[in-house]
Amino acid sequence: MFDLIIAGAGPAGSSAAREAGKMGLDVLLIDKDRFPRYKPCGGGLSERAISYLDFPLPESICERKITGARIRFGDRAIDRHKDYRLNVTLTRSIFDNFLLRKAQETGVHVITGQKVLDFREYSENVEVSAGNKIYRSKHLILAAGSQNKLKDRVMGRDGKDRYGVCVVTEIPAENEAIETRLGNALEIHFGVARMGYGWIFPHEGYYSVGIGGVAKDLTNPRRSMIEFLRKNGFTGSYKLRGHMIPFGGITRPIASSRVLLSGDSAGFVDSFTGEGIAYAIKSGQNAAQTVADKLEDGDLDLAGSYQQRCKRDFGDDLKYSLIMAKIMHSWPEMFFRMLATRDDFLDKFLEVPAMKGTYKSLIRWLMPRMPGYLLSI
Ligand SMILES: Cc1cc2nc3c(=O)[nH]c(=O)nc-3n(C[C@H](O)[C@H](O)[C@H](O)COP(=O)(O)OP(=O)(O)OC[C@H]3O[C@@H](n4cnc5c(N)ncnc54)[C@H](O)[C@@H]3O)c2cc1C
Repeated sequence: MFDLIIAGAGPAGSSAAREAGKMGLDVLLIDKDRFPRYKPCGGGLSERAISYLDFPLPESICERKITGARIRFGDRAIDRHKDYRLNVTLTRSIFDNFLLRKAQETGVHVITGQKVLDFREYSENVEVSAGNKIYRSKHLILAAGSQNKLKDRVMGRDGKDRYGVCVVTEIPAENEAIETRLGNALEIHFGVARMGYGWIFPHEGYYSVGIGGVAKDLTNPRRSMIEFLRKNGFTGSYKLRGHMIPFGGITRPIASSRVLLSGDSAGFVDSFTGEGIAYAIKSGQNAAQTVADKLEDGDLDLAGSYQQRCKRDFGDDLKYSLIMAKIMHSWPEMFFRMLATRDDFLDKFLEVPAMKGTYKSLIRWLMPRMPGYLLSI
């Protein structure tokens, strides 16, 4: 009997395991894959995500320190560079493997290459079946990403307007060519997909290129991706990988009496940028702290307490990122013109990933200025 079983060793699961391990809980962390494993991702790690780590991020993992953005809409482009870091790019297989090692440092048990197939919640414990074994624990954290179905038993199933679809590929390139094309800037293409965008991110020896948008509208993501690649001069044959991205904020149940969802399994992704690593790390830590509190105080309302913690730490960011996405995608022309013509807007916009501002402050700044811009189009 473990205190806690965690399904999934991505950023959410490994962060939960490390937090629980540090508090002395008896933890079993299970992942279906053997590490290091591939994870479809742009590999942008925000300042927020870095701030949530309780250890320094090794220089060797950071591929590029991003200080600028190139924003494209149709044939037009704006370049902006800052004197501070907006985020870093990294390769997920390396980063996630590193987070798993940091969890193992705390003495947690880890099983990889074994899929969690089912769980049963009883009044006193949870039974988890993985491979051909049954494990028992007092609590379970489901941190198995956006595509596992087990989470639906806690939060219900999302409709096509509640998640995005992405297609991503990694394109090898000489560092010199990457430097000439992008330097330390992220390239973002608006107008490619509704409630989404296309991206070209510089890495060490490759570009991450992808598109993402709301599933309801991006009906043929592969075709849109092939078109996007061609328009941007990538004419080779590439391995394309599809994946889901949930969004919508903390509006669905994220825990039952013994099971907590964290990271993508809980739908914790920024609806505007698709960023989810930060919220995976923080929600994993929150889930572990809530379980530790519950083990101390049997009367604690586990689900209520966990939800409160997550709302306190990033509820507003998820909520206002959705509002921002809706504003931007309702008036893309106005939005792009504002970015192109008002330095103060682009500055405010870039403050969000750099953690110098929030979506809430950006929207408060934007609202009184919008009518004038709408009239000028
Ligand atoms: C194309 C794309 C680009 C993205 N780009 C960015 C970006 O640049 N920056 C950013 O911050 N976010 C980005 N995201 C979002 C980010 O990848 C996720 O929000 C983040 O990985 C969530 O972490 P997680 O730990 O919840 O889930 P995951 O990282 O998905 O980890 C889940 C783990 O669970 C394991 N698992 C799944 N099912 C089972 C099972 N049944 N049993 C056991 N183990 C299981 C998987 O093997 C995996 O290791 C992107 C997402 C996509 C799809």
